[in-house]
Order: sequence, then C-alpha cells, then structure tokens
Amino acid sequence: MPLAPGIHYFSPTLPVFVFDAPKPGPVAIIEAGIHGDEIAGVHALQELLEEEIRPDCGRLLVIPVMNPPAYRARERFVSGGLDLNRQFPGDATAPERERRLARRFMDLMLDEKPALLVTLHESKKKYDPAVVPSFGQTIVYGVDERPPIVDRAIARLNGNLMDEAERWAPLCYPVATSSTEVIVDAVGCIGLCIETWMGFSERRRIDMQREVVKILLDEIGVRRS
Ligand SMILES: [Zn+2]
Repeated sequence: MPLAPGIHYFSPTLPVFVFDAPKPGPVAIIEAGIHGDEIAGVHALQELLEEEIRPDCGRLLVIPVMNPPAYRARERFVSGGLDLNRQFPGDATAPERERRLARRFMDLMLDEKPALLVTLHESKKKYDPAVVPSFGQTIVYGVDERPPIVDRAIARLNGNLMDEAERWAPLCYPVATSSTEVIVDAVGCIGLCIETWMGFSERRRIDMQREVVKILLDEIGVRRS
C-alpha cells in the first residue's frame, strides 16, 4: 500500500517525507545519501524540505538520507558494512542491515510505483567522455533509449550555466546491480542518478543539486518552477 501523507521513519534517523498535491498527477521519489560521503544531495534535499517544497500535482516523496550511519561516518558505507546501492532488491530477513534496508526501499518503490526516481550522488572525477568511469556533472541512466526528460533537463541546466566547468552531460552507464536499475526493471519507471563533481565547493554542489531536482520535478509534472 502507498504511504499516507506525512513523515514515516524507516529507522529513528531515516525519515521518508510524503506530500500529496491537491491535484492528481505522477509520483516522484527523490532520494540522497545512499552513499554516505556524497553529501551535496543530502543537504540539498534538507534545504528544500526546510523551505517547504511541495508538489503541485501528484505526489512527492523525499528521502534525504538513505543510509544514516554511512552519512554520519562520511563514508560510502560504514566500516564492515555493505554498499547499500548494491544490495537491491534486498532481503527482509538478512543479517546485514543494508540488505534489510534495501528490501524496505524496494517495497516502497513497488507500493508507490513512481513515474520518476531520482538518486542524488557525487563523483570524485570530473566527467570526461575519454575517462571511464567519470561522472561529474552528469545525469546517468541505464536503459537503451535515453528518457527524453534527460535531454530536456540538461538543456535547461546548461542554458543557465555561469561557468563552463559546470556543464552537464547525459551519460548512459548501465550497472545491472545498482539500486536504480533493479528498481527500473521492477517498476518500469524512469530512474536517474545525478552526479556532481566533488571538486566544486560544497555550497556550489548543493546549489547544483537543488537546481537539478527542481528542474526534474518540473519536467515530470509534479512541481512547477
Ligand atoms: Zn554514489
């Protein structure tokens, strides 16, 4: 069953924010902190929540910190733990915390059936088509045909560029075991990963993540901007 509007806790430190719009429309899920050292997306979502971001149509779910212990440690995953992004679809009875948590997120996706799932990441390498892998700044997808929303969002992002170093690119980088691809396969949604380059200041990366979230919510029809 989809969640009731409000705040739901997957752990005492893992809130899931659910907002329903007055008008019907698609479901969008925006999440960050699946890797604990990639903080710009976490802070971008926390700021947007503090500013009371709400959907105009449909439903918006915001999960600022998917892996709280890893975020507190500022590590991709906690020492001795597992990469949450590689544990999907997960297992509710597994001894490992990350596999149990992956199952909770997987069930959430199956219940909510989002049109759009966006996971905010960051990259230590600036994107260069000649360097594989390198990600910052890219909108990453893993399906054969690029979802048109990717090109529309990138055109808007690059249309607002203040600095050529911040140029965005689309990147097809399929990783069959990643959470996004497992969810896309199961739900049939558009699944995108946002990658900013860690070489920029923290403040600038947060602002870039905020901008891309707002543009994607506008393009999917959940929130006008
Ligand atoms: Zn990541």
